[in-house]
Amino acid sequence: MRYVSTRGSAPELGFTDALLAGLATDGGLYVPAEWPSLPPRAQGATYAQRAAQIIQLFVGDELPAATVQRLCDEAYATFAHPSVVPLVQLHDHHFIEELFHGPTLAFKDVALQLVGRMFDEVLRARGQRVTIVGATSGDTGSAAIDGVKACANVDIVILYPHGRTSDVQRKQMTTVDSPNVRVVAVDGTFDDCQDMVKAMFNDAPFRERMGLSAVNSINWARVMAQIVYYVNACDLLAGPINVCVPSGNFGNVFAGWIAKRMGADINQLIVASNANDILTRFFNTNDMSAVPVVPSLSPSMDIQVSSNFERLLFEMNGRDGGATAEQLTAFRATGKLSIEPDQRAEFLDGQFMAERCDDAETLDVIGRTYREAGMLLDPHTAVGVGSVAKLWAAGALKGTTVTLATAHPAKFPDAVERATGVRPPLPAHLADLFDLPEHVTRLPNDLAAVQAFVSTAFTH
Ligand SMILES: *Cc1c(COP(=O)(O)O)cnc(C)c1O
Repeated sequence: MRYVSTRGSAPELGFTDALLAGLATDGGLYVPAEWPSLPPRAQGATYAQRAAQIIQLFVGDELPAATVQRLCDEAYATFAHPSVVPLVQLHDHHFIEELFHGPTLAFKDVALQLVGRMFDEVLRARGQRVTIVGATSGDTGSAAIDGVKACANVDIVILYPHGRTSDVQRKQMTTVDSPNVRVVAVDGTFDDCQDMVKAMFNDAPFRERMGLSAVNSINWARVMAQIVYYVNACDLLAGPINVCVPSGNFGNVFAGWIAKRMGADINQLIVASNANDILTRFFNTNDMSAVPVVPSLSPSMDIQVSSNFERLLFEMNGRDGGATAEQLTAFRATGKLSIEPDQRAEFLDGQFMAERCDDAETLDVIGRTYREAGMLLDPHTAVGVGSVAKLWAAGALKGTTVTLATAHPAKFPDAVERATGVRPPLPAHLADLFDLPEHVTRLPNDLAAVQAFVSTAFTH
């Protein structure tokens, strides 16, 4: 399998190079040169076996089947549920696929537990090391750290804005005690952290010397690993299903589009947003204009521009990288992106729906779902469940629908308690989180100080 850039002018790569590259040299994102078809599920296959079967299609001959299977077995053995991503029924027509049983209680574990292991495997074979540097507002950092903390060939430095993550999110990062993990609390905002990461990547000598690498949501292998749970839901529920996805950077719902493209029996993909609704505005009214982010109860969906949307745009342009690059340049210049009506009708209608829930609606959905079904939803999942309820009530949606539960309620206990009066306890594997010592370095909002720290953080 070869990988091409969405902007059409970077060299084609094989799987392992695309894995390590992250962003393409033309600024685009890597996608497979063609979409393979979904093989039938072997009778009695486990989640890890189904995952290895699907992922092998994208890895090609760059990793042997036994290696892919071992990495999937190890990655999904870290999940606290025997089904890995269990399906739970909420109403007659509405199921929840719980993606939050991984080590850090958010769906990002599904991809990052595997991608961390793939990095280590590929680097070991090549005799290389990398230093992953990333900025986080909460969920990505903890999932990335947990995914690589046991890797021999990967170091990781995660920057987060001091005082601006939840206690659970911070502790999930700072209580990891591993020689290849460093966590930095920056006296600044998330954007400051992200700007410093970008500046370090743009410093070519520093990037080379440190072997800098990234595992942010544009990494192809993360999208790839997420295809599997869409297929899993189709395997378990006979007949066509709709899937509702609480969305931020569009990586998750794009994986759903790939599953559908490969032949999974998916009818509609429902893009659910919070008050930061650029995606919903695009799908419903062709208005993709970036506006400032407002903080919400579902912070992992507080985005201004969805980085993975570029992959969908490439498909909408008939895989014309030049046209995609031009459209993105215009978007950067004007802050607005719109699509020709016939292109929309041909590509989007019948595949995507979109809805939004603001914070008041989110709290209402959490409260109602607890009273009516006894189920605690985290605020991100509640945006999805509320969006399905609104579309259903309007008669716009029909048939079996699965909402992806992207975080465990105990990861966002304040919102859940506010809505239900119940404070969800941490699951057993994290019960001692608040007793463990924290390992964190606090640094000023200053690039030179952070860069100096990264240079000397690891002595091995
Ligand atoms: C990251 C995240 C999302 C958004 O996922 P995208 O792939 O960015 O669309 C939703 N919910 C939770 C809990 C997350 O951590």
